[in-house]
Amino acid sequence: MDLDDLSIDESRIGRELSRLAEFSAAPAPAVTRVLFSPEDLAARAYLSDLAAEAGLTVRTDAVGNLFMRWEGSQPDLPAVATGSHCDAIPHSGQYDGTVGVLGGLEAIRALQRCGSAPRRSIELVMFTAEEPTRYGIGCLGSRLLAGVLEPAAADALKDAEGTTLAQLRATAGCTGELASVELASGHYHRFVELHIEQGPLLERDGVDIGAVTAIAAPAALRVKYGGPGGHAGAVLMVDRRDPLLPAARLALAVDRAARESGAPDTVATVGVMDVHPRAINSIPREVTLEIDVRDIDGPRRDAVLEQIDASAEQYGNDARCMTAIEVLNADPPATCDKTIVAAIEAAAAAAGLSCQRMISRAYHDSLFMSLAAPTAMIFIPCREGISHRPEEFAAPSAMAGGVEVLARTLWQLASEK
Ligand SMILES: [Zn+2]
Repeated sequence: MDLDDLSIDESRIGRELSRLAEFSAAPAPAVTRVLFSPEDLAARAYLSDLAAEAGLTVRTDAVGNLFMRWEGSQPDLPAVATGSHCDAIPHSGQYDGTVGVLGGLEAIRALQRCGSAPRRSIELVMFTAEEPTRYGIGCLGSRLLAGVLEPAAADALKDAEGTTLAQLRATAGCTGELASVELASGHYHRFVELHIEQGPLLERDGVDIGAVTAIAAPAALRVKYGGPGGHAGAVLMVDRRDPLLPAARLALAVDRAARESGAPDTVATVGVMDVHPRAINSIPREVTLEIDVRDIDGPRRDAVLEQIDASAEQYGNDARCMTAIEVLNADPPATCDKTIVAAIEAAAAAAGLSCQRMISRAYHDSLFMSLAAPTAMIFIPCREGISHRPEEFAAPSAMAGGVEVLARTLWQLASEK
């Protein structure tokens, strides 16, 4: 098929994104859409309706991943998949994830308007709970698809109200066994995700498209220190076992471990430090830190994790505090598929758009999809690299460019024998 007639409906993408953003627990322009909340369910219904309107076959799995399929002329061949997520962390923006879902839909519609069906089916996926908001673990849906999260452990996850995932998904109508979510090997021919960059590089360099070649490996640790607490006036310094002190030392050690890794690609952050009982006249009794560590090199990231772990232990002992260290996740980095990266570059050239290779330092469903199928990502610029805030913005022309590159890439990959 000739893609010369390919045209992307730029205004429709904008309208549908704005409509989707209305399904929010926070007032506009902020978006809050947490897994299986009324807003999330409404967004899912909206998306299913749009997909059905485009003639796609819609299916939901046991964890709520939504699959929308455009049947190819050889439907028995493994499909080419695209997609992203529609959940949004509290008070975030309207472009993270959604551009890859509604953009994926528009890419399919644009190809449909060109007149013929692809050889391989093209399947749009909306992944369940890419954001860790409700259950503390990111990419719930894609982890289960890739088979790297134990179904029973996933079902037993509890949210802040104590509702397990098993209970919650049942109320949302997802009643099957979680074990059925895992994709058989070879289920998808290839997977490609369109996403806003969430960083400043494309905008700064004036480049239209990023072809992602690797996704950094995320890891997260939770460290708890405990002590007896006591009255801030009455307990003498010599008698104290204050858990805030090892926590404070550990925050500095986390920063140092990343800075001294030998590579600028290592980053480490203490994003949470909760102090209890958090009263000015009370010695802390418990301090919890949550630590995020990432790198594009798995062994180097693991070495930093080990160093942090050893420091955490040592500082706890020094302060005679109870110490508990829990690894929340430590995922390997992903290398993107060369064939898809080349297809993205060729698609950008055909669309008359500039393109550069880059690394994704945030992680996405693609990190886990790369374990199930050859995978790559398409990035588009977002204003000032801002994301996870209401000010998040991608220009309509940038989105249309990304959708055109996605459409051309999907067509190319779906034409492969
Ligand atoms: Zn995202």
